Amino acid sequence: MKTIGIIGGMSYESTTIYYNTINQVIKDKLGGLNSAKILLQSVNFAEIEKLQKENKWQESGEILGSIAKKLENAGADFIILATNTMHKVANIIQNFINIEFFHITDATIKALNLKNIKKIGLLGTKYSLKDDFLKDKFKQNGFEVIIPNDDDINLINDIIFKELCVGKISKKSYEIYIKIIENFKSKGVQAIVLGCTEIGLLINEKNSPLPVFDTAIIHAKFSALKSIGEKFE
Ligand code: GLU
Repeated sequence: MKTIGIIGGMSYESTTIYYNTINQVIKDKLGGLNSAKILLQSVNFAEIEKLQKENKWQESGEILGSIAKKLENAGADFIILATNTMHKVANIIQNFINIEFFHITDATIKALNLKNIKKIGLLGTKYSLKDDFLKDKFKQNGFEVIIPNDDDINLINDIIFKELCVGKISKKSYEIYIKIIENFKSKGVQAIVLGCTEIGLLINEKNSPLPVFDTAIIHAKFSALKSIGEKFE
């Protein structure tokens, strides 16, 4: 079994989803007392969020890259970053290491292809939705990507940082997200990509009017399968 190196803590609310999902997959696949081999370094999210606000992406990339290198030196076989937004600096992180950086969007694209989805509605932080680093990857792989309007992006972003990242779940915020998803539906979107690792705390397959692809769950699940050399399915 390979060792998964996780850069987490952005926020810790979603890193626990990774830890639980990875171990659940290993348990389901291997049974008995089998559990995942994980090296996790969790950052202080307040420090990283400050750098996001100050637009200091190079600096945050170097911090996360150094962590990836430490995980490599400690024995990780591949690295995952348990947040979408900080994939803005994925190239900087990859340059720090000699092992694979398993990108969250590559995992999500595999999951969408398995279900033959072509037109997606993307939800995420303002950094992920306004910048192109996630959208371009989807588009280069043949997807049509619809994002919310600017007012809705700000609403979604505020709910992520002020509520979901601190573990607060509210009915009002759920209704705001559902309204945005309904709007996507009217535009012919086939599925929603939760392009932020905390949105799954609010929206899931059972309570959404459209099929849901939760990047945190998909990334964690595929990482677990990768660690035991199993095909994604
Ligand atoms: N975890 C979130 C994401 O997947 C947002 C937190 C962050 O800014 O890193 O984008």
